[in-house]
Amino acid sequence: MAADRLSVDVLVVGSGASGLAAAVSAERAGARVALAAKGSLQSCNSAKAQGGIQAAFGEDDSPEAHAEDVWRSSHETADMRLVHILTSEAPSTIQWLEESGVEFTRSNGGYRLARCGGASRKRLLQVGDRTGLAITSALREAVERSSALTLPKSPLAELARTESDWRARCGERVVEAGAVVLAAGGRCFREAEERGELSTNHPGATGEVTQIALALGAQARDLDALQYHPNGGAWPASMQGYSIPETTRAYGAVLLNAEDEEFTDSLGPRDEVSQAIFDEVEKGLGVETADGRPAVWLDTTRISAEDAEISLPYMLRRYRAAGIDPLAEPILTYPVLHYQNGGLVVDERGETTVEGLFACGEIAGGTHGRNRMMGNSLLECVVFGRHAGKAAFEKAR
Ligand SMILES: Cc1cc2nc3c(=O)[nH]c(=O)nc-3n(C[C@H](O)[C@H](O)[C@H](O)COP(=O)(O)OP(=O)(O)OC[C@H]3O[C@@H](n4cnc5c(N)ncnc54)[C@H](O)[C@@H]3O)c2cc1C
Repeated sequence: MAADRLSVDVLVVGSGASGLAAAVSAERAGARVALAAKGSLQSCNSAKAQGGIQAAFGEDDSPEAHAEDVWRSSHETADMRLVHILTSEAPSTIQWLEESGVEFTRSNGGYRLARCGGASRKRLLQVGDRTGLAITSALREAVERSSALTLPKSPLAELARTESDWRARCGERVVEAGAVVLAAGGRCFREAEERGELSTNHPGATGEVTQIALALGAQARDLDALQYHPNGGAWPASMQGYSIPETTRAYGAVLLNAEDEEFTDSLGPRDEVSQAIFDEVEKGLGVETADGRPAVWLDTTRISAEDAEISLPYMLRRYRAAGIDPLAEPILTYPVLHYQNGGLVVDERGETTVEGLFACGEIAGGTHGRNRMMGNSLLECVVFGRHAGKAAFEKAR
Protein backbone atom coordinates (compact mmCIF):
# COMPACT_ATOMS: atom_id res chain seq x y z
CA MET A 1 0.00 0.00 0.00
CA ALA A 2 1.42 3.41 -0.94
CA ALA A 3 2.05 5.69 2.01
CA ASP A 4 -0.09 8.83 2.44
CA ARG A 5 1.82 11.94 1.36
CA LEU A 6 1.43 15.48 2.50
CA SER A 7 3.35 18.69 2.08
CA VAL A 8 3.69 21.44 4.68
CA ASP A 9 5.95 24.37 5.52
CA VAL A 10 6.87 23.13 8.99
CA LEU A 11 6.81 19.61 10.40
CA VAL A 12 6.91 19.49 14.21
CA VAL A 13 7.87 16.15 15.77
CA GLY A 14 6.48 15.77 19.30
CA SER A 15 3.40 16.95 21.17
CA GLY A 16 4.89 17.94 24.53
CA ALA A 17 5.02 21.56 25.66
CA SER A 18 7.86 22.38 23.25
CA GLY A 19 6.25 20.85 20.16
CA LEU A 20 2.88 22.40 20.93
CA ALA A 21 4.45 25.85 21.46
CA ALA A 22 6.40 25.48 18.20
CA ALA A 23 3.29 24.44 16.27
CA VAL A 24 1.21 27.33 17.65
CA SER A 25 3.91 29.85 16.89
CA ALA A 26 4.61 28.59 13.35
CA GLU A 27 0.90 28.45 12.52
CA ARG A 28 0.29 31.95 13.88
CA ALA A 29 3.15 33.20 11.70
CA GLY A 30 1.24 31.83 8.70
CA ALA A 31 2.80 28.40 8.20
CA ARG A 32 1.09 25.23 7.05
CA VAL A 33 2.00 22.98 9.97
CA ALA A 34 1.87 19.25 10.66
CA LEU A 35 2.52 17.96 14.17
CA ALA A 36 3.42 14.28 14.47
CA ALA A 37 3.54 12.36 17.76
CA LYS A 38 4.55 8.83 18.60
CA GLY A 39 1.41 7.99 20.58
CA SER A 40 -1.60 10.06 21.54
CA LEU A 41 -1.07 13.82 21.61
CA GLN A 42 -1.51 13.71 25.39
CA SER A 43 1.30 11.23 26.00
CA CYS A 44 4.43 13.18 26.95
CA ASN A 45 6.59 14.16 29.92
CA SER A 46 5.34 17.72 29.84
CA ALA A 47 1.84 16.70 30.92
CA LYS A 48 3.34 14.88 33.94
CA ALA A 49 5.15 17.98 35.22
CA GLN A 50 3.75 18.91 38.56
CA GLY A 51 5.97 21.41 40.35
CA GLY A 52 5.85 24.52 38.21
CA ILE A 53 7.59 26.97 35.92
CA GLN A 54 10.14 29.63 36.81
CA ALA A 55 9.87 33.36 36.01
CA ALA A 56 11.27 36.34 37.93
CA PHE A 57 8.19 38.08 39.30
CA GLY A 58 9.23 38.52 42.95
CA GLU A 59 9.96 42.08 44.13
CA ASP A 60 13.53 41.11 45.03
CA ASP A 61 14.01 39.16 41.79
CA SER A 62 15.19 39.84 38.23
CA PRO A 63 15.98 37.92 35.04
CA GLU A 64 19.67 38.49 35.87
CA ALA A 65 19.29 36.81 39.28
CA HIS A 66 17.43 33.97 37.57
CA ALA A 67 20.27 33.61 35.05
CA GLU A 68 22.88 33.59 37.82
CA ASP A 69 21.01 30.76 39.57
CA VAL A 70 20.99 28.74 36.33
CA TRP A 71 24.71 29.34 35.87
CA ARG A 72 25.51 28.27 39.44
CA SER A 73 23.18 25.22 39.38
CA SER A 74 24.66 24.09 36.07
CA HIS A 75 28.12 24.29 37.71
CA GLU A 76 29.02 26.94 35.13
CA THR A 77 28.33 24.71 32.14
CA ALA A 78 25.15 26.31 30.72
CA ASP A 79 25.22 28.21 27.41
CA MET A 80 24.64 31.75 28.67
CA ARG A 81 23.44 32.98 25.25
CA LEU A 82 20.46 30.67 25.69
CA VAL A 83 20.10 31.30 29.42
CA HIS A 84 19.71 35.07 28.97
CA ILE A 85 16.94 34.48 26.44
CA LEU A 86 15.31 31.98 28.80
CA THR A 87 15.26 34.24 31.84
CA SER A 88 14.59 37.59 30.13
CA GLU A 89 11.64 36.18 28.20
CA ALA A 90 10.21 34.25 31.15
CA PRO A 91 7.73 36.94 32.34
CA SER A 92 6.34 37.57 28.84
CA THR A 93 6.12 33.81 28.31
CA ILE A 94 3.94 33.51 31.42
CA GLN A 95 1.73 36.25 30.00
CA TRP A 96 1.51 34.38 26.67
CA LEU A 97 0.49 31.21 28.51
CA GLU A 98 -2.18 33.14 30.41
CA GLU A 99 -3.52 34.49 27.15
CA SER A 100 -3.66 30.87 25.99
CA GLY A 101 -5.83 30.00 28.99
CA VAL A 102 -3.41 28.83 31.72
CA GLU A 103 -4.50 30.06 35.15
CA PHE A 104 -1.57 30.21 37.55
CA THR A 105 -2.26 29.92 41.27
CA ARG A 106 -2.41 33.34 42.90
CA SER A 107 -2.31 34.64 46.47
CA ASN A 108 -2.31 38.13 48.02
CA GLY A 109 -2.95 39.74 44.64
CA GLY A 110 0.12 38.22 42.96
CA TYR A 111 1.40 34.84 41.85
CA ARG A 112 1.96 32.23 44.53
CA LEU A 113 5.73 31.85 44.22
CA ALA A 114 7.81 29.02 45.71
CA ARG A 115 11.57 28.64 45.98
CA CYS A 116 12.93 25.66 44.13
CA GLY A 117 16.20 23.79 44.57
CA GLY A 118 19.23 25.90 43.68
CA ALA A 119 17.24 29.15 43.49
CA SER A 120 18.19 32.25 45.45
CA ARG A 121 14.65 33.67 45.34
CA LYS A 122 11.04 32.49 45.32
CA ARG A 123 10.38 32.23 41.59
CA LEU A 124 8.30 29.15 40.85
CA LEU A 125 4.77 29.69 39.52
CA GLN A 126 2.37 26.81 39.84
CA VAL A 127 -1.04 25.62 38.76
CA GLY A 128 -1.72 23.62 41.93
CA ASP A 129 0.53 20.60 41.37
CA ARG A 130 -0.59 19.92 37.80
CA THR A 131 1.30 22.74 36.04
CA GLY A 132 2.41 20.68 33.05
CA LEU A 133 -1.08 19.32 32.50
CA ALA A 134 -2.53 22.84 32.53
CA ILE A 135 0.08 24.11 30.05
CA THR A 136 -0.18 21.20 27.62
CA SER A 137 -3.99 21.18 27.74
CA ALA A 138 -4.16 24.90 26.90
CA LEU A 139 -1.58 24.64 24.10
CA ARG A 140 -3.13 21.47 22.67
CA GLU A 141 -6.50 23.21 22.50
CA ALA A 142 -4.80 26.11 20.69
CA VAL A 143 -3.27 23.67 18.17
CA GLU A 144 -6.56 21.85 17.70
CA ARG A 145 -8.39 25.13 17.09
CA SER A 146 -5.79 26.16 14.50
CA SER A 147 -5.23 25.03 10.92
CA ALA A 148 -2.34 22.75 12.03
CA LEU A 149 -2.73 19.13 11.07
CA THR A 150 -2.18 16.73 13.97
CA LEU A 151 -0.81 13.23 13.34
CA PRO A 152 -1.04 11.10 16.50
CA LYS A 153 0.41 7.57 16.42
CA SER A 154 2.83 8.66 13.70
CA PRO A 155 6.35 8.09 15.02
CA LEU A 156 9.17 9.67 13.06
CA ALA A 157 11.18 6.75 11.69
CA GLU A 158 13.19 8.37 8.85
CA LEU A 159 14.25 11.89 7.98
CA ALA A 160 16.20 12.91 4.91
CA ARG A 161 17.22 16.08 3.13
CA THR A 162 15.91 16.39 -0.40
CA GLU A 163 17.18 18.99 -2.85
CA SER A 164 15.34 21.87 -1.22
CA ASP A 165 13.18 20.31 1.46
CA TRP A 166 12.91 17.58 4.07
CA ARG A 167 11.21 14.26 3.63
CA ALA A 168 10.03 12.46 6.77
CA ARG A 169 8.37 9.13 7.32
CA CYS A 170 5.96 9.45 10.22
CA GLY A 171 4.12 6.17 10.73
CA GLU A 172 2.31 5.43 7.47
CA ARG A 173 2.76 8.94 6.13
CA VAL A 174 5.44 10.65 4.12
CA VAL A 175 5.62 14.33 5.04
CA GLU A 176 7.50 16.84 2.89
CA ALA A 177 8.41 19.98 4.80
CA GLY A 178 10.40 23.15 4.23
CA ALA A 179 11.79 22.92 7.77
CA VAL A 180 11.55 20.47 10.66
CA VAL A 181 11.31 21.12 14.39
CA LEU A 182 12.41 18.20 16.55
CA ALA A 183 10.57 18.33 19.88
CA ALA A 184 10.63 14.65 20.76
CA GLY A 185 11.89 14.93 24.35
CA GLY A 186 14.53 12.91 26.16
CA ARG A 187 15.45 9.25 26.65
CA CYS A 188 15.18 8.52 30.37
CA PHE A 189 12.48 5.86 30.06
CA ARG A 190 14.68 3.72 27.82
CA GLU A 191 17.82 4.46 29.80
CA ALA A 192 16.13 3.40 33.07
CA GLU A 193 14.90 0.18 31.48
CA GLU A 194 18.42 -0.62 30.30
CA ARG A 195 19.86 0.09 33.76
CA GLY A 196 17.08 -1.82 35.57
CA GLU A 197 16.12 1.37 37.44
CA LEU A 198 12.94 3.35 38.00
CA SER A 199 12.12 6.45 35.96
CA THR A 200 9.55 9.22 36.17
CA ASN A 201 9.28 9.34 32.36
CA HIS A 202 6.48 8.34 30.00
CA PRO A 203 7.14 5.26 27.85
CA GLY A 204 7.66 7.36 24.70
CA ALA A 205 10.87 8.91 26.13
CA THR A 206 13.22 6.67 24.21
CA GLY A 207 15.54 9.04 22.33
CA GLU A 208 15.44 7.64 18.78
CA VAL A 209 14.81 11.08 17.27
CA THR A 210 18.09 12.33 18.75
CA GLN A 211 19.78 9.41 17.00
CA ILE A 212 18.14 10.39 13.70
CA ALA A 213 19.45 13.96 14.11
CA LEU A 214 22.96 12.76 14.98
CA ALA A 215 22.95 10.54 11.89
CA LEU A 216 22.13 13.65 9.84
CA GLY A 217 25.26 15.30 11.23
CA ALA A 218 23.74 17.42 14.00
CA GLN A 219 26.04 18.14 16.94
CA ALA A 220 25.08 17.36 20.52
CA ARG A 221 26.44 18.29 23.93
CA ASP A 222 26.31 16.82 27.45
CA LEU A 223 24.35 13.77 26.26
CA ASP A 224 25.93 11.74 29.05
CA ALA A 225 24.55 14.08 31.75
CA LEU A 226 21.33 12.46 32.92
CA GLN A 227 19.51 13.89 35.91
CA TYR A 228 18.15 11.97 38.86
CA HIS A 229 15.11 13.51 40.50
CA PRO A 230 16.12 13.47 44.18
CA ASN A 231 12.67 12.42 45.32
CA GLY A 232 11.24 9.43 43.57
CA GLY A 233 8.53 7.67 45.55
CA ALA A 234 10.11 4.57 47.18
CA TRP A 235 7.16 3.15 49.07
CA PRO A 236 4.31 2.07 48.81
CA ALA A 237 4.95 0.08 45.65
CA SER A 238 2.24 1.94 43.72
CA MET A 239 4.21 5.19 44.21
CA GLN A 240 7.54 3.84 42.92
CA GLY A 241 8.72 5.97 39.99
CA TYR A 242 6.40 8.82 40.98
CA SER A 243 8.28 12.12 41.27
CA ILE A 244 7.37 13.70 44.58
CA PRO A 245 7.19 17.39 43.63
CA GLU A 246 10.17 19.47 44.66
CA THR A 247 7.61 21.93 46.00
CA THR A 248 7.20 19.59 49.01
CA ARG A 249 10.69 20.73 50.00
CA ALA A 250 9.95 24.33 48.95
CA TYR A 251 7.04 24.27 51.40
CA GLY A 252 9.09 22.90 54.31
CA ALA A 253 9.68 19.14 53.92
CA VAL A 254 13.23 18.01 54.73
CA LEU A 255 15.27 14.89 54.07
CA LEU A 256 16.14 12.75 57.11
CA ASN A 257 18.32 9.67 57.50
CA ALA A 258 17.55 6.53 59.52
CA GLU A 259 18.50 8.42 62.68
CA ASP A 260 16.08 11.27 61.92
CA GLU A 261 18.96 13.64 61.17
CA GLU A 262 19.07 16.18 58.34
CA PHE A 263 22.07 15.29 56.18
CA THR A 264 21.91 17.83 53.34
CA ASP A 265 20.40 21.16 52.27
CA SER A 266 17.05 19.84 51.04
CA LEU A 267 16.79 22.77 48.61
CA GLY A 268 20.24 22.43 47.07
CA PRO A 269 20.78 21.84 43.33
CA ARG A 270 19.29 18.53 42.18
CA ASP A 271 22.52 16.67 41.49
CA GLU A 272 23.89 17.59 44.94
CA VAL A 273 20.73 16.49 46.77
CA SER A 274 20.58 13.20 44.83
CA GLN A 275 24.26 12.54 45.51
CA ALA A 276 23.80 13.26 49.22
CA ILE A 277 21.02 10.63 49.34
CA PHE A 278 23.15 8.06 47.49
CA ASP A 279 26.04 8.77 49.90
CA GLU A 280 23.86 8.52 53.01
CA VAL A 281 22.57 5.13 51.93
CA GLU A 282 26.11 4.03 51.06
CA LYS A 283 27.20 4.98 54.61
CA GLY A 284 24.54 2.65 56.00
CA LEU A 285 22.36 5.52 57.20
CA GLY A 286 19.48 4.86 54.83
CA VAL A 287 16.20 3.08 55.44
CA GLU A 288 14.97 -0.04 53.65
CA THR A 289 11.52 -0.25 52.08
CA ALA A 290 9.26 -3.25 52.68
CA ASP A 291 10.43 -4.71 49.35
CA GLY A 292 14.12 -4.22 50.17
CA ARG A 293 14.84 -1.03 48.22
CA PRO A 294 17.10 1.74 49.56
CA ALA A 295 15.44 4.95 50.76
CA VAL A 296 15.61 7.91 53.11
CA TRP A 297 12.79 9.81 54.79
CA LEU A 298 11.16 12.94 53.42
CA ASP A 299 9.53 14.58 56.42
CA THR A 300 6.42 15.98 54.78
CA THR A 301 4.70 16.50 58.15
CA ARG A 302 6.46 19.89 58.29
CA ILE A 303 4.34 21.20 55.39
CA SER A 304 1.38 23.29 56.56
CA ALA A 305 -2.06 21.93 55.68
CA GLU A 306 -2.84 25.19 53.85
CA ASP A 307 0.26 25.03 51.62
CA ALA A 308 -0.38 21.35 50.93
CA GLU A 309 -4.00 21.87 49.98
CA ILE A 310 -3.24 24.79 47.64
CA SER A 311 0.02 23.59 46.09
CA LEU A 312 0.17 19.80 46.54
CA PRO A 313 -3.39 18.48 46.20
CA TYR A 314 -2.55 15.80 43.60
CA MET A 315 0.41 14.47 45.59
CA LEU A 316 -1.75 14.30 48.73
CA ARG A 317 -4.51 12.49 46.86
CA ARG A 318 -2.10 9.94 45.39
CA TYR A 319 -0.47 9.11 48.73
CA ARG A 320 -3.71 9.06 50.70
CA ALA A 321 -5.23 6.71 48.11
CA ALA A 322 -2.19 4.47 48.67
CA GLY A 323 -2.85 4.47 52.44
CA ILE A 324 -0.31 7.08 53.64
CA ASP A 325 -1.11 10.62 54.78
CA PRO A 326 2.06 12.70 54.12
CA LEU A 327 0.86 15.39 56.52
CA ALA A 328 0.68 12.85 59.35
CA GLU A 329 3.78 10.71 58.65
CA PRO A 330 7.04 11.07 56.67
CA ILE A 331 7.33 9.29 53.33
CA LEU A 332 10.09 7.13 51.85
CA THR A 333 12.04 8.45 48.89
CA TYR A 334 15.06 7.65 46.68
CA PRO A 335 16.39 9.30 43.49
CA VAL A 336 14.96 8.19 40.12
CA LEU A 337 16.10 8.80 36.53
CA HIS A 338 14.27 11.89 35.38
CA TYR A 339 15.75 14.18 32.75
CA GLN A 340 18.24 14.39 29.89
CA ASN A 341 20.22 17.55 30.67
CA GLY A 342 22.10 17.66 27.39
CA GLY A 343 20.96 17.32 23.79
CA LEU A 344 21.28 18.78 20.32
CA VAL A 345 23.30 21.98 20.02
CA VAL A 346 21.02 24.89 19.05
CA ASP A 347 21.40 28.60 18.40
CA GLU A 348 19.22 31.38 19.82
CA ARG A 349 16.41 30.55 17.36
CA GLY A 350 16.52 26.84 18.02
CA GLU A 351 18.33 25.85 14.82
CA THR A 352 20.65 22.86 15.16
CA THR A 353 24.01 22.71 13.44
CA VAL A 354 22.15 21.27 10.42
CA GLU A 355 20.47 24.03 8.41
CA GLY A 356 16.66 23.83 8.40
CA LEU A 357 16.60 21.36 11.28
CA PHE A 358 15.41 22.90 14.55
CA ALA A 359 15.18 21.47 18.06
CA CYS A 360 13.51 22.61 21.26
CA GLY A 361 12.66 21.26 24.71
CA GLU A 362 14.39 18.31 26.34
CA ILE A 363 15.91 17.09 23.05
CA ALA A 364 18.03 20.28 22.90
CA GLY A 365 21.12 20.94 25.03
CA GLY A 366 22.87 23.97 26.45
CA THR A 367 20.20 25.87 28.37
CA HIS A 368 20.72 23.83 31.54
CA GLY A 369 24.32 22.78 30.99
CA ARG A 370 24.94 19.55 32.88
CA ASN A 371 22.41 20.10 35.67
CA ARG A 372 18.93 21.56 35.18
CA MET A 373 17.04 23.49 37.82
CA MET A 374 13.50 22.46 38.44
CA GLY A 375 10.92 24.67 36.71
CA ASN A 376 13.26 25.67 33.89
CA SER A 377 12.30 22.85 31.57
CA LEU A 378 8.69 23.86 31.00
CA LEU A 379 9.99 27.40 30.59
CA GLU A 380 12.59 26.32 28.04
CA CYS A 381 9.93 24.36 26.13
CA VAL A 382 7.69 27.37 25.72
CA VAL A 383 10.36 30.06 25.20
CA PHE A 384 12.39 28.11 22.65
CA GLY A 385 9.40 26.25 21.18
CA ARG A 386 7.99 29.62 20.16
CA HIS A 387 11.32 30.77 18.69
CA ALA A 388 11.88 27.49 16.85
CA GLY A 389 8.38 27.41 15.32
CA LYS A 390 8.66 30.95 13.99
CA ALA A 391 12.25 30.59 12.80
CA ALA A 392 11.45 27.29 11.07
CA PHE A 393 8.72 28.98 9.07
CA GLU A 394 11.06 31.82 8.11
CA LYS A 395 13.57 29.22 6.95
CA ALA A 396 10.92 27.28 5.03
CA ARG A 397 9.95 30.43 3.14
C1 LIG B 1 7.10 13.46 36.30
C2 LIG B 1 7.76 14.69 35.76
C3 LIG B 1 7.65 15.89 36.46
C4 LIG B 1 8.25 17.05 35.95
N1 LIG B 1 8.08 18.24 36.60
C5 LIG B 1 8.56 19.38 36.03
C6 LIG B 1 8.27 20.65 36.60
O1 LIG B 1 7.58 20.76 37.60
N2 LIG B 1 8.77 21.75 35.98
C7 LIG B 1 9.54 21.69 34.85
O2 LIG B 1 9.94 22.72 34.32
N3 LIG B 1 9.81 20.50 34.29
C8 LIG B 1 9.34 19.35 34.85
N4 LIG B 1 9.60 18.14 34.27
C9 LIG B 1 10.40 18.12 33.04
C10 LIG B 1 9.55 18.57 31.89
O3 LIG B 1 8.22 18.28 32.07
C11 LIG B 1 10.00 17.90 30.58
O4 LIG B 1 11.34 17.77 30.51
C12 LIG B 1 9.57 18.74 29.44
O5 LIG B 1 8.23 19.05 29.58
C13 LIG B 1 9.88 18.04 28.15
O6 LIG B 1 9.07 18.55 27.15
P1 LIG B 1 9.32 18.17 25.65
O7 LIG B 1 8.27 18.89 24.88
O8 LIG B 1 10.72 18.42 25.30
O9 LIG B 1 9.11 16.59 25.62
P2 LIG B 1 7.88 15.71 26.06
O10 LIG B 1 6.89 16.48 26.83
O11 LIG B 1 8.40 14.46 26.66
O12 LIG B 1 7.22 15.36 24.65
C14 LIG B 1 7.89 14.56 23.72
C15 LIG B 1 6.97 14.26 22.58
O13 LIG B 1 7.72 13.65 21.53
C16 LIG B 1 7.01 12.53 21.08
N5 LIG B 1 7.95 11.58 20.46
C17 LIG B 1 8.95 10.86 21.00
N6 LIG B 1 9.55 10.11 20.06
C18 LIG B 1 8.91 10.36 18.91
C19 LIG B 1 9.03 9.89 17.57
N7 LIG B 1 9.94 8.97 17.21
N8 LIG B 1 8.18 10.36 16.63
C20 LIG B 1 7.22 11.26 16.93
N9 LIG B 1 7.06 11.75 18.18
C21 LIG B 1 7.89 11.30 19.15
C22 LIG B 1 6.29 11.99 22.29
O14 LIG B 1 5.24 11.18 21.87
C23 LIG B 1 5.84 13.30 22.91
O15 LIG B 1 4.67 13.76 22.27
C24 LIG B 1 9.01 16.98 34.76
C25 LIG B 1 9.13 15.76 34.07
C26 LIG B 1 8.52 14.64 34.57
C27 LIG B 1 8.67 13.35 33.82
